[in-house]
Amino acid sequence: MYQKRINTSSLYPPTSAEGDIRIGCGIFGAISFKNEPIFPSVYWGLRAQNHRGHQSHGFLTYDSERFYLHKSLDLVPKLKTSAIQEWFGRLPGSIGIGNVRYTTSGKCDDQSIIKGTQPMTAEANGAKVAVSFNGNIVNTQQLKMELNGQFQDYTCSCDSDLVCQKLLLELMRQKDLALAVKPVMESLDGAFSVTGITGNGDFFAFKDPHGIKPLCAGHSPDGKVFAFSSETVSLDINGLIRDFELNPGELATVAEDGLKRQQLIANPRKAFCAFEYAYFARPDSTFDGRYVYEIREEFGRNIVNEFPEITKDADVILSVPETGDDPAMGVHEASGLRWERASRRHRYVTERAFILLNDERFSTIDRKVNILGSKVEGKRVIITEDSIVRGDTTKVIIEKLRKAGAKKVYMFVTFPRIIGPCFYGIDMSTYGQLIGSNHNTEEIAKIIGADAVCYQSHESLVKATGEKSDDLCMACITGKYPTPLAQKMADEMRARFLNGFKEKTRIYETEDPAAPS
Ligand code: SF4
Repeated sequence: MYQKRINTSSLYPPTSAEGDIRIGCGIFGAISFKNEPIFPSVYWGLRAQNHRGHQSHGFLTYDSERFYLHKSLDLVPKLKTSAIQEWFGRLPGSIGIGNVRYTTSGKCDDQSIIKGTQPMTAEANGAKVAVSFNGNIVNTQQLKMELNGQFQDYTCSCDSDLVCQKLLLELMRQKDLALAVKPVMESLDGAFSVTGITGNGDFFAFKDPHGIKPLCAGHSPDGKVFAFSSETVSLDINGLIRDFELNPGELATVAEDGLKRQQLIANPRKAFCAFEYAYFARPDSTFDGRYVYEIREEFGRNIVNEFPEITKDADVILSVPETGDDPAMGVHEASGLRWERASRRHRYVTERAFILLNDERFSTIDRKVNILGSKVEGKRVIITEDSIVRGDTTKVIIEKLRKAGAKKVYMFVTFPRIIGPCFYGIDMSTYGQLIGSNHNTEEIAKIIGADAVCYQSHESLVKATGEKSDDLCMACITGKYPTPLAQKMADEMRARFLNGFKEKTRIYETEDPAAPS
């Protein structure tokens, strides 16, 4: 057993815990060879990705073999010019990583959220590492047992901590980074895109063997700054040029002579999250050189082609702002119907209803979308939406449309019916919370008050992404999970759900996932 492990997070406690708590995960890391502070790049990188996690954020920089850490709740703050110098002083150094988070593992009280806020750091026996992680680990219990057996005082707070500690353990066994990362990739079941820094100042990024979550690399035009990011928007905001999307099972490192790529897992099976195209990613981000926005427009055209009779029966198109806007353009192009911008988001009610805590959801949805009543009165309306998860958001919007006098409401939904939970970093972890898990399309229409719900087909979705269906994770819409433990859990959960057992949330965190509640 190794000596008492030091969690360096506790040495640099958060400076503030102000604000309203909101909840996904976005990662960004950068290194500069210009001998200048990296903090501004990491700051802007996180600001551009705040849509991936609202609940908390954290920055970590590396200077002269020391880590400097700042963690806080809520959105990445707006910094006053006068405060910039203070931040530079607090976060010195030319290598940095950052994270925006919505918790999909660990507890949800303030203290646990801040404890689970990344970057995570760990240190023991002269080895040290910091990581920023996006994803979710499924075999947490097995890993906890392994780490408990290795570190005297180990108490796990969340899956990012597990990844950090597991990497530390392997770095203690193997000084070579690639030799340490490989067993980490092999032992974790789940989704993990990671960027990090070792105690020697090695800057790196790696992706799980299925490449479930996005992670790209870029560099500055003068070749002096390199970065890793969940989405390309964070490269754009920093004036960086995108180089490549990391491959599943790949490790990338950056040194003065540039980027080095190492494929650690031979012949991995790619399973990139299909929901990124419909909902998560920003429309101005690119995957394989195409804007997400273009793909979403194609989704809209596809639904028109798949439901010609319903399209003919409509007078006007509306969109649920904002992820419904791009498909609405596609519906407009393919149908010739007017796209009436008659549903508007209150600009400063910015929280995504999908990721809000349960008890807040209803009132906020009602508050955040405003319908321009006279524009829909007496009309047959198509409304475009990215997905239906619980159904409560859509129900409220349809009620508002009916109240405004809409004659008919047809839902055009770009992501097919969600029938199962996600164990890879999206907080829909039970069958019971998904309206599509035990209701067919007609029943869903009835529950939410629509005249019809028109889902894009799986085939059209895949075609529009430009990917092969085998290269996408579509587990929540097909029930076929890319990793073995997730499949086993999903099958067992489904059987119990159909038998009327009350589900546990986040089953991957329970001691015995198979035990009924
Ligand atoms: S299960 Fe669904 S949401 Fe989760 S990673 Fe797969 S496609 Fe994405």
